[in-house]
Amino acid sequence: MEVVIIGGGIGGLTTALTLHQLGIPCTVYEAARELRPSGTGINLQPYCVRELFHLGLERQLRETGIPARGLAYYTRLGQHVLTERLGSEAGFDWPQFHMHRGTFHMMLAEEVVRRLGSDALKLGHRCVGVENHGGRVVARLTDRKTGQDAGPVSADVLVAADGVNSTVRAQFYPDEKPPYWNRIIMWRGVTEDIRMLDGHTMVVTGSYRQKFVAYQIRKPPAERMAGEDDLMLNWICELVAPEDMEFRTEDWNRSGSADDFAEEFRDWVFPWIDVPDVISRTMGIWEYPQVDRDPLPQWTFGNIALLGDAAHPLTPIGSNGASLAVVDARVLGRELAAAPAEPRTALKAYEAERRPAMEKVLGGNRAGGPEHFMPLVEERAPDGFDDIRDVLSEEEMNIAAGYRVTTGLTTDLVNGCRSLIPPEHFVVQPDSA
Ligand SMILES: Cc1cc2nc3c(=O)[nH]c(=O)nc-3n(C[C@H](O)[C@H](O)[C@H](O)COP(=O)(O)OP(=O)(O)OC[C@H]3O[C@@H](n4cnc5c(N)ncnc54)[C@H](O)[C@@H]3O)c2cc1C
Repeated sequence: MEVVIIGGGIGGLTTALTLHQLGIPCTVYEAARELRPSGTGINLQPYCVRELFHLGLERQLRETGIPARGLAYYTRLGQHVLTERLGSEAGFDWPQFHMHRGTFHMMLAEEVVRRLGSDALKLGHRCVGVENHGGRVVARLTDRKTGQDAGPVSADVLVAADGVNSTVRAQFYPDEKPPYWNRIIMWRGVTEDIRMLDGHTMVVTGSYRQKFVAYQIRKPPAERMAGEDDLMLNWICELVAPEDMEFRTEDWNRSGSADDFAEEFRDWVFPWIDVPDVISRTMGIWEYPQVDRDPLPQWTFGNIALLGDAAHPLTPIGSNGASLAVVDARVLGRELAAAPAEPRTALKAYEAERRPAMEKVLGGNRAGGPEHFMPLVEERAPDGFDDIRDVLSEEEMNIAAGYRVTTGLTTDLVNGCRSLIPPEHFVVQPDSA
């Protein structure tokens, strides 16, 4: 069996590493002409870290990630609401990592090239159309540099991991509306020389209408100077857009300006973080609309399957978009390895497991995600409180745990599965990869 993967993001590259581990040849076609370690931070959840360890990436992750210990919620006045334990501290058998997105992405790309060979990752190839053809699949490609035809390529299976604005998804759903924008704008940045709390705690301050989120990440190894402190603060400021503002949702990764939001955070100076200082010393600002898409009735079409954001883009409320793309890759690989002569059956089995699960996560995120209790605190105690137990009941304070139940990501369920792919099915063992 041969597989073509469209998109060299986190989902596409993890699919390539998984297929290689299972002895299935594949090639990734990525539209960008160069992969650059761009972006800010992402969280890798324990259920995803488990799979990445099975892919032989434990050493790199421990060296470049920061193990998360807690998620502390504060009100906009700086009052502590509660701290939820994360990763190993919460009883998961695998850590949760705060990672620099670029470091993680480049780690995956380098491993694909090292393990599969440089021909397995073809940059500058944009997919412009796909079709099922006589039990095989054909992808039409253009060369980004010349604009010339660079295909077609043919394979047994095509995995479309081409992100939130997926070309392949659009081909199967030509009438789908643009991504749904919840009217929240996020400004994201990274600031050097700041240590917040114990360095392992993520912080959410404020609520739906105005929020500051931050956690520490490590500088990419290539940018580090000898002896330098490599900790940086990854931060996000969120505001609801003015009524009359339109956002081009397709333009979701553009430079932003502090002039558009810093004033709203001018009083957010707390003992554990000085938000105006963080913003004023940032290395750059990116602006995103917070978007997702409605669930799809179908993810697989003959020998073609959608994966990652192409199948289920989510708002980053639960910090799990990237982790879920990794799980997709593992389940898809497992099913293809189990039925190599029946790729359509394998893809259907992948969809049957992942599509309902992702509908639940989408529903949970749209209901406010794990931080659903924060609007209640703002509403009931706008001027602050003496004791949080006067504001929230025990049950309401446990809503974060409720999100884990809704999304099927509880400690018991995660620890109860030692690997999404039985290690005896690995053709290439993690320690020899
Ligand atoms: C800059 C950025 C920051 C993010 N921050 C967070 C976060 O903090 N927390 C979180 O949970 N999630 C975050 N996300 C979302 C999370 O990273 C995604 O859920 C995850 O990356 C999904 O991976 P993916 O591979 O499906 O899609 P993507 O990472 O979007 O990768 C898609 C790839 O496909 C390529 N591509 C697109 N069209 C074509 C085509 N026609 N032909 C060939 N290649 C194509 C793109 O260039 C890209 O490399 C962020 C996403 C981005 C882009």
